Amino acid sequence: DYKSRVTVVGSGNWGSVAAKLIASNTLKLNSFHDEVRMWVFEETLQSGEKLTEVINRINENAKYLPGIKLGKNVIADPDLENADVHFVYGETGNYAVKDANMLVFVTPHQFMEGICKRLVGKVRQDAEAISLIKGMEVKMEGPCMISTLISEHLGINCSVLMGANIANEIAVEKFSEATVGYRDKREIAEQWVRLFSTPYFLVTPVQDVEGVELCGTLKNVVAIAAGFVDGLDMGNNTKAAIMRIGLREMIAFSKLLFSSVRDSTFFESCGVADVITTCLGGRNRKVAEAFAKNGGKRSFDELEAEMLQGQKLQGVSTAREVYEVLSHRGWLELFPLFATVHEICVGRLPPSAIVEHSEQKPKLS
Ligand code: NAD
Ligand code: 13P
Repeated sequence: DYKSRVTVVGSGNWGSVAAKLIASNTLKLNSFHDEVRMWVFEETLQSGEKLTEVINRINENAKYLPGIKLGKNVIADPDLENADVHFVYGETGNYAVKDANMLVFVTPHQFMEGICKRLVGKVRQDAEAISLIKGMEVKMEGPCMISTLISEHLGINCSVLMGANIANEIAVEKFSEATVGYRDKREIAEQWVRLFSTPYFLVTPVQDVEGVELCGTLKNVVAIAAGFVDGLDMGNNTKAAIMRIGLREMIAFSKLLFSSVRDSTFFESCGVADVITTCLGGRNRKVAEAFAKNGGKRSFDELEAEMLQGQKLQGVSTAREVYEVLSHRGWLELFPLFATVHEICVGRLPPSAIVEHSEQKPKLS
């Protein structure tokens, strides 16, 4: 019988938890090979050991998810695409994506274009991909979602999985939900749902890739706004207002970009639930709070490096990318919250401007 082989590309905080979820299922389900390959961006730890060696020795990602066993069938692999030996030996090496017919992408979004370029011609042409990455790229032609980047570079179909999913909570198996966004093949979505679902991780498929992915992407900008509100000690009502205005801008922006986006998607885990959890407990919120407390005097880059120890924020770069789209299309006045978040991040406005923007009347209801 044919068995699917899964490779996870990425091994940060969420990447490691995703590998753990998947590995618990491949052991139980006959339609999957037990082994889950996890590509690791190799680094040397303070101990002098390589991160992949540590992961394979103690079965934990000591840097990005310490204290959590990943499952013995998770194998860390530093070789993404056999780049070094390709010209010498041909395609004989056993690199991370080589035999996988199910590819799970979960790196910070800014690294994905480079990774896609490295993977051209290296993945199976019958492979299916899924992106857990919250972010987008902006090209001359306009915005490009990460699932599209993957599809276009690799010539394979790409679904998405987004949701109210703070990785550290799922790592200790606290109940949460997630949404799979798929394009047209329901059976592919069902295969992803089987691969990710556990009694504590409830996954629902929705036929709206763009809507699901834009939810995951845009909520990080709202989370930065919520962090400013926390840093300024503005209280719960203000934060709730920012979350509501943010959600409204998420819906309007998504629909302007893709008329196919469905209203109902915003009521799935990827929509309102992710806005709530990220604005309460996420990394973007936390670092934006520190930024506002410091009156904007310490940069996000500096605070990120100090507070997150190698983990990456997505909200600040996403705010810039959204701002580029808004200014190119003449939409800045329609999205005062999104625009103001970027202006604050780059120091053109003080953090307190996060509430002043709402005095301008947004043109969309
Ligand atoms: P992370 O922020 O914890 O870790 C950063 C990762 O980037 C590490 O694996 C590091 O090795 C890698 N890296 C550093 N430099 C690199 C380079 N030059 N090239 C390639 N990789 C490099 O990562 P994460 O939390 O797994 O986030 C990945 C995606 O998942 C993001 O889009 C994020 O928004 C999303 N996400 C995160 C969470 C969460 O709670 N952590 C939850 C849901 C979704
Ligand atoms: P942060 O990156 O802000 O921690 O958000 C995590 C997340 O996406 C939760 O769903």
